[in-house]
Amino acid sequence: MKPASHTTILIVDDSEVNIRILREFLVRADFEVLVARDGMQAITMTRTGSVDLILLDVMMPTLDGFEVCYQLKADDETQSIPIIFMTALDEVKSRVRGLTLGAVDYITIPFQREEVLARLNVHLRLHALTRELKAQNEQLRREVTVRAVIEEALWESSATLTNLLSNLPGIAYRCRPDTEWTMEFASIGCQDLSGYPPETFTVGGSRHFWQLIHEEDCAAVRAYKQQALAARSRFQTAYRIITAQGDQKWVWEQGQGIVDAATGGLRAIEGFIADITAQKQAEIARQRELERALLLKRITADIRSSLDTQQILQTAASALGQALQVNRCTLHTYDTLPQPRIPRVAEYYADIQHTLPEVAWAVEQPVVAAALASDRAVAIHTVPGDPRFATVAVPDSLQSLLFIRTSYQEQPNGAICLEQYDRPRQWQAAEIELLEAVAAQMGIAIAQAHYFEQAQRQRAELSAQNIALQETEAALVRANQNLHRLATLDGLTGVANRRQFNQRLRDEWQRLRREQKFLALVLCDVDYFKQYNDTYGHLAGDDSLRQIARALERLIQRPADLVARYGGEEFAILLPNTTLTGAAHVAGRLTQAIAALELPHQTAPSGWVTISAGVAALVPLVDQPPELLIAEADRALYQAKQQGRNRFVLQAVV
Ligand code: GH3
Ligand code: MG
Ligand code: MG
Repeated sequence: MKPASHTTILIVDDSEVNIRILREFLVRADFEVLVARDGMQAITMTRTGSVDLILLDVMMPTLDGFEVCYQLKADDETQSIPIIFMTALDEVKSRVRGLTLGAVDYITIPFQREEVLARLNVHLRLHALTRELKAQNEQLRREVTVRAVIEEALWESSATLTNLLSNLPGIAYRCRPDTEWTMEFASIGCQDLSGYPPETFTVGGSRHFWQLIHEEDCAAVRAYKQQALAARSRFQTAYRIITAQGDQKWVWEQGQGIVDAATGGLRAIEGFIADITAQKQAEIARQRELERALLLKRITADIRSSLDTQQILQTAASALGQALQVNRCTLHTYDTLPQPRIPRVAEYYADIQHTLPEVAWAVEQPVVAAALASDRAVAIHTVPGDPRFATVAVPDSLQSLLFIRTSYQEQPNGAICLEQYDRPRQWQAAEIELLEAVAAQMGIAIAQAHYFEQAQRQRAELSAQNIALQETEAALVRANQNLHRLATLDGLTGVANRRQFNQRLRDEWQRLRREQKFLALVLCDVDYFKQYNDTYGHLAGDDSLRQIARALERLIQRPADLVARYGGEEFAILLPNTTLTGAAHVAGRLTQAIAALELPHQTAPSGWVTISAGVAALVPLVDQPPELLIAEADRALYQAKQQGRNRFVLQAVV
């Protein structure tokens, strides 16, 4: 409650006497006092000022006290201000009416000071209390509202969290830091991820989460997580779990220990486990694909690096066998002639005895027939009991088989067979794809090698034919040379014959006629040769002719010069680009040389075989025949004979 000095009392009265008395009481009691002398003024002052209490006279002209009271109570701004009526002692009705209208009390006129102040103070206190209560109420009301909002928000966030956790694809968990990490809470996603409801792993449940982890990963995961906990660091790890259905899944887990701030000890472990099977499988598939591509590249390069069929097949057998980790890999070529069969041509063994009986594959066997029909592999996961093997003698221990043809331009040219003995094997799509890719390369390589071998054989045949042809050609050349020799050389002496002489004479004649140069001819005739034959015999005659011819050839130096046997014991020496002087020089040397041979001729005057020579030289002219030169030389020869033989005579032609 305000002190009196800060409390304003409004006196509403039209009686100056009353006003004066009341003001005096109130001022003395330290109240602030306002005065209104009629009803209208009272309402105006109340609305504008800070009036704490109103002393209101009932009887006033124009607006009486009831009306003023009525109007003030009707106004929100002023209704709470306590109003005390002032009435005469006998006005019971007025008091009742005033209280009914909302006045809090009345005081009687004439005023009793103590009564007035007592009532005033009571009502001021009451009013203050009421105001306080109202304020408290208001405060409470506000607090209640805020609380309701908070509660609403709390409820909502809790609902959101529950909703989130129940929709979370994975497991959000909280574990105790005991040896088995017993879960206190696991979100509902546990069911989807592991196939077990969350209660399975939480306190009192039937399993520990560790039991879910793949046995190959469990020890490593546990060691890693323990280490992270000890180091108070967050752990992040990927591992495999086996679900309630027996499937394998890849999960990723992130979590950390919750440390008690007071003790520094571990209070709990919280974390999250997500299913990453799809990503992991995609990653593994990518990895496998990469490995397959590399392998295929290597095998292809190995295959392509050779043109030797046997080497190609052996390389491919080993590479495939190792890549797919089979016990045996055999390669076959497919022969259509004389009858379809597929002999084994290369083989790879791993880890098993080489004493395994060879499977006799034949085209009519259903497995083989199916494989030979297309480029797709035939995969048999379980051989024992398979009806397709009823007619094939396979080893009892053969568990699984992968069979595929190799082909070129739609035609089978071989087969690849992968055999597994140590365990039944589910052939994977990726393995089948790899085999099909290798088989495609093999088909081409086999065809190429086949063509190459064929080409090599053809080349060998061709080269043999070539050698024979070369031999024939050499023989022909030899025969030709012989013929040529026969046609152009003299059979007895080996010098040019008359035919060649005539040809050369004509050629040189024409050339030198064009060039206007000298052509010379020396005609030689053996002296007394008839007698020689008569004395020594015809064979000795032949022999001496050969010696004379050899001697003549030795003396002739220029390549263009020609010695020819012109007739029985006559020789002609053709000397192109030679003047008469030059030719005379040659003729001189010839006659001397023959004499110098000293072939005995007892009936000749000199005692030796000699020759006589006629020399002619001319520059051939147009319209002159070559025979002119022969005639001139012959004339000179005749003169040489006439002049005694063993000499030469020059015939200058003008
Ligand atoms: P001349 O000194 O006058 O030349 O006397 P000649 O005896 O040499 O002349 P003739 O023309 O009378 O005789 C040529 C002889 O040459 C005749 C022939 O018996 C001989 N004769 C010709 N050709 C051959 C041959 O090829 N072999 C041998 N052995 N003698 C030949
Ligand atoms: Mg003669
Ligand atoms: Mg003669």
